[in-house]
Amino acid sequence: MTGTRTGRRGSTTAWADIDLHALGRNLERLRHGLPGQAVFGVVKADAYGHGAGPVGRALQRFGIDGLVVADMGEGITLRRAGITAPILVIDPPLPSQLRLPALHRLGATVTSAAEARALATAANRAGRTVEVHVRVNTGFAGFGVPRAELTDLLAAVAAAPALRLEGLYTHLSGAYGPYEDGGLAELERFGEAVEAARAAGRLPALVHALSSPALDRPLLTGAAARIGCTAVRCGAALFGIRMADGDPPLPLAPVMSVKARVSRVTALEPGDVADYAAAGAAPRRTPVAVLPFGFADGHHLHRLAGGVLLIRGRPAPVLGRAFMSSLLADVTDIPDVQPGDEAVLIGRQGDHRITAETLAARSGLRPSAVPLLGPRVVRRYRSNAAREDQTE
Ligand SMILES: *Cc1c(COP(=O)(O)O)cnc(C)c1O
Repeated sequence: MTGTRTGRRGSTTAWADIDLHALGRNLERLRHGLPGQAVFGVVKADAYGHGAGPVGRALQRFGIDGLVVADMGEGITLRRAGITAPILVIDPPLPSQLRLPALHRLGATVTSAAEARALATAANRAGRTVEVHVRVNTGFAGFGVPRAELTDLLAAVAAAPALRLEGLYTHLSGAYGPYEDGGLAELERFGEAVEAARAAGRLPALVHALSSPALDRPLLTGAAARIGCTAVRCGAALFGIRMADGDPPLPLAPVMSVKARVSRVTALEPGDVADYAAAGAAPRRTPVAVLPFGFADGHHLHRLAGGVLLIRGRPAPVLGRAFMSSLLADVTDIPDVQPGDEAVLIGRQGDHRITAETLAARSGLRPSAVPLLGPRVVRRYRSNAAREDQTE
């Protein structure tokens, strides 16, 4: 079960297994639950820590309709990684970045007529047509064109032959909250914007509003279909991470597991302490496993105190708080732990499973923040259960 690759690279002691097969299954399931909708995969922040290049290429192989990133630099990275699928950049281009969409065939977001005109000038100079998506502000963080300016912006895009209107979109903050109808009011505002674009004869082919937490809420998927949405953007769901509580009507598999090898087995004597704060002195002799995984490897893990990891198929309580590059686990109830044993920090071992959602709840983080790991944690990619493809 342990990776041959890791064995060869004897220096690898902490790694993340990225199951590209699970990624493909998640995409299939999402497609199945959203008939007729184009699916855009959001791979910003290095594909939520899963690796933008390998994940982007895998999604492209699986037939994703397009990819979404936060900024131009991430888009260029994907092009250099061999992605030919459409790429939408969420942040509108800065004045210094106006040439990049034309040069790298990146879809640009525009949120004002002035941005559209500046982008058109740069596209003309480059002699290329640039695809644009207009983002509409429906009440979230001031992102997007105010609805009152939408038709002027659409007119400015239509007046620029170097720009091709590809999409109209918004992002629903309410979908990330606990309420079944969260995001519905924003979606209704978006519906008015869609109607205004339609009335002006300028409704593009791609109309998108829903992201991961909205995809299993019939109230939102139904309303989106009614107002004419034709696409969804999802990140977390593709990675099998649930952003909101509730039973998943779409069964999604986690894509990332995080593992480390026990580096030492030692013991705390009565009165010894397990971390700098010297808070909890061991009341009794405590056998401990040292794991090469500290807060530099996953900042949230220093909040693991009170949590567990898995060794030999059993839960081992984390002792104290993690150090920069290691942490201690209490192995009193797990006999025969040896250096080199594989420990699971996120994922399954034996009958036990630790999910990103559990860690998020314990650490107060958003679930999508959990897979953002430090640079020491090597990522290993598998396309099926038996074979490893690449190491990054
Ligand atoms: C990050 C992001 C998404 C993806 O959100 P998930 O909840 O991960 O699906 C979609 N749209 C926009 C505009 C985003 O910034």
